[in-house]
Amino acid sequence: MIIQKKSNTIVWKDIFTCVELPAPLKRAEELAYNLWWTWNPAATNLFERMDPDLWFETDGNPVKLLRSLSLNRIDALLHDAAWMQNLDEVYMAWQAYMSAPTDSSRPSVAYFSMEYGLSHVLKIYSGGLGVLAGDYLKEASDSNVPLTAVGFLYRYGYFDQRISVDGQQLATYEAQDFNLLPIQAVTDEGGHPLVFEVPFSDRTVYCHVWRVQVGRISLYLMDTDLEKNNLSDRQITHNLYGGNWENRMKQEYLLGIGGILLLQHLGISKEIYHMNEGHAALISAQRLADYVEQKGLPFDVALEVVRSSSLYTVHTPVPAGHDYFDEELLGRYMGHFPHRLGISWQEFIDMGRTTPGSSEKFSMSVFALNTCQEANGVSYLHGVVSRSMFAPVWPGFFAEELHVGHVTNGVHLPTWASPESQAFYKKHLGTDYVSRQADESTWAAIEHIPSDEIWQLRSQLKENLLHYITHDYRKRWLRANDGSANLPEGLDCIGLNTLLIGFARRFATYKRAHLLFTDLDRLSRLVNHPDRPVRFLFAGKAHPADGGGQGLIKHITEISRRPEFEGKIIFLENYDMHLASKLIAGVDVWLNTPTRPLEASGTSGEKA
Ligand SMILES: *Cc1c(COP(=O)(O)O)cnc(C)c1O
Repeated sequence: MIIQKKSNTIVWKDIFTCVELPAPLKRAEELAYNLWWTWNPAATNLFERMDPDLWFETDGNPVKLLRSLSLNRIDALLHDAAWMQNLDEVYMAWQAYMSAPTDSSRPSVAYFSMEYGLSHVLKIYSGGLGVLAGDYLKEASDSNVPLTAVGFLYRYGYFDQRISVDGQQLATYEAQDFNLLPIQAVTDEGGHPLVFEVPFSDRTVYCHVWRVQVGRISLYLMDTDLEKNNLSDRQITHNLYGGNWENRMKQEYLLGIGGILLLQHLGISKEIYHMNEGHAALISAQRLADYVEQKGLPFDVALEVVRSSSLYTVHTPVPAGHDYFDEELLGRYMGHFPHRLGISWQEFIDMGRTTPGSSEKFSMSVFALNTCQEANGVSYLHGVVSRSMFAPVWPGFFAEELHVGHVTNGVHLPTWASPESQAFYKKHLGTDYVSRQADESTWAAIEHIPSDEIWQLRSQLKENLLHYITHDYRKRWLRANDGSANLPEGLDCIGLNTLLIGFARRFATYKRAHLLFTDLDRLSRLVNHPDRPVRFLFAGKAHPADGGGQGLIKHITEISRRPEFEGKIIFLENYDMHLASKLIAGVDVWLNTPTRPLEASGTSGEKA
């Protein structure tokens, strides 16, 4: 069931706050607008201490927090010498971080993705592909790579999830208030929000452009929800992976063609153009047109230039998971391109077909392969699978000869390691362990840490998770469900000696969340063992169009309500990056049971 709220429900209450923060607090505001705070516990902690209750109310969004501080609270902070000093320290650390020069020995990169998982407050991600993209930007910032990224700001983001008493997933699309997010409108020369024009074949689509500062990296997000656009164009950036095929075509046109034009408009040019999944493949079409029309290159030469500077990361191991557009739909959006490139329509559409000349639909992945010199999967096995999946594109070659490799997915350590673990690593591995994380010898010191210190950390993290579930998470649950609690039973009585096993990810059927439940009698013996109790924590959203995934959620919640499993198999609703980071830090074992080889990398396992 999907609920799309047209506007947020209005709740009136009196607060007195500042339109403009007093000068000493301006530094906190600067910090709030750079997502550096998301991976620096000292910065997050600084915001939380401004007003812990308000921090909870504003869901840990510092921009919203600063807008809602009461005059009394502001006054108290100005007189809180310890907090003010801490603000100075964090601000100086951030300034020092920002002033490090870019590493110009590395090639510069333009990065394109439909989703970015940067923080739970910015709802522009749905799963592992987005989390990879978000971590990638943060890592690029830490390693000082000159990178600029492009994506969309979705009005409704990805949905909020509740589970009804009978196990139905209720998906609510809440409009995001862009003024309360850690993003800034890009302005024109006159200081007004830029209205960027993207030429479609028969009309112009207008976008606002928002900049997200991710440490040293800028991410530009396009947003078509402008009155100047017709109704259907306004909806292009309403939902992540929502709408029909035509809307998807418009999104991919906007990301690819609009994305390249936007960088040009901003005066940004890079050496490498990176497509995170085939959604962004049309960047190559625009770059080809630029080389042919502006540099006067023949098409074949332009293609070599574009190929030698383009990279495609594939995430999907089965052909059915890729995007295909039928000829008529593609023609309506891309019909004017072949002429500009000096080739025929047939030649153009064949660049997106495994077998040129056939009647296949246009595959964005095949177009990406034909315009990128390098392509990579996201793990060793996924590289092998991708080579054989794509082998038919190059008849006469062995799969192992293809230019499809792999780069094993990684995670941004300071984002996913808990503050406690980070302090622990600093103590035992050295304060600069983050910058030496790729060096194997950094981790050798683990061998010399006394076991009881590791056990202490483990117990602390588990306690934190249990405290989080019984306090913040419970409060949030009650708020989301208007107090009418069908709250899972038994959260309070999980002891520290319980083995906690976590399973949280998108509920796609191939991830097999149900595998645990094939032998219920045995499972019951495990969770009800008198001396060695085991508890399972589940979380995850199913795409609203995925009936199978929603069926799994229902199945698991039904089982979890049986007397023998009540309080032992627990489903936590509304999985997001915040809940993910708590679960990953707190559980003892992370469970991952996908159908081999359909899981490309399994990002949450890598985080754990
Ligand atoms: C990490 C993460 C994912 C991806 O996890 P997988 O194991 O790859 O499915 C999905 N959603 C959220 C909120 C995450 O934090």
